[in-house]
Amino acid sequence: MIRFEQVSKKFPNGTFATKSLDLEIKKGEFFILIGPSGSGKTTTLKIINRLIDLSEGTVWINGKKISDYDINELRWNIGYVLQQIALFPHMTIAENIAIVPELKNWDKEKIAARVDELLNMVGLDPRVYRNRKPSELSGGQQQRVGVLRALAADPEFLLMDEPFSALDPFSREKLQDDLLEIQRKIKKTIVFVTHDMQEAMKLGDRICLMKDGEIVQVGTPHEFLTNPANDFVREFVGSRKYAINLNELITPAPAGGALLSDMKTISLSTPLEEVLEHLELNEQISVEENGKPIGIISRQTALKVMSQYLREGGQING
Ligand code: ADP
Repeated sequence: MIRFEQVSKKFPNGTFATKSLDLEIKKGEFFILIGPSGSGKTTTLKIINRLIDLSEGTVWINGKKISDYDINELRWNIGYVLQQIALFPHMTIAENIAIVPELKNWDKEKIAARVDELLNMVGLDPRVYRNRKPSELSGGQQQRVGVLRALAADPEFLLMDEPFSALDPFSREKLQDDLLEIQRKIKKTIVFVTHDMQEAMKLGDRICLMKDGEIVQVGTPHEFLTNPANDFVREFVGSRKYAINLNELITPAPAGGALLSDMKTISLSTPLEEVLEHLELNEQISVEENGKPIGIISRQTALKVMSQYLREGGQING
């Protein structure tokens, strides 16, 4: 768990990048920091791994002040991924991934096995990729390797600073999906900076919206959509009134329909507000029409479609 208590950062030029932040990030949580440029997201992130020293207040990691940790002990337990991953160009992919395990003196076999395991996890065949140089990979693949490098020594925490924002929309979508899949398996505590609400809605368990170094709202994607704290949040999320057809959220039912039997079931005519409430409690719900199951709505799909609408400035009819 990461806890910020009254944390302020004042730069020598007098700028307050964060002002008396109070924040609690739970174990295993995918936590998003979002806000306009200059709102203090990166500073908040870098305070956690002590790349930036805080001026006032305290940050606790697992009940211990970050200032009381040995800096290596702290950083090895916190993977860090940046927008432009700097893979070492003369090292192979395997060597790049193995940097922290090498520093930690893991034995060679354990490192090799770990590298292969990680490459397999994101669908990069180790036999093809382990001996390649970074320049022989696409931008998306390099970024994927950067994520693997951060995970290599199995840190408990992962800090990600706009890790996908330099990628084309297709690669970006793919890496987001990969990351969600990885997170489902390994359940790290992730703090992820973005300025893209759609990305935040898709990935985050909770979102923290910042402005001028302060927190405007912390909540689930659902809470941001249904209960924005003020006009700034409303504007950042987009208009809440949009015309959405339930059909757009539905993925067809799998053949046989067996999967659907123990799910919460709603009818196709259920108002969107009510559907959102069900999705708050259930990862997915099934939809029926005239008593016959027609498909599934997953929380993730719903948030994704709705945030797409919001971005396009559409109208929701709740
Ligand atoms: P964000 O990540 O949300 O874009 P930052 O955390 O990078 O915001 O910056 C927050 C504020 O602190 C901004 O006003 C920025 O100009 C200022 N700032 C960031 N780094 C420094 C620095 N090294 N020296 C002075 N001011 C800085």
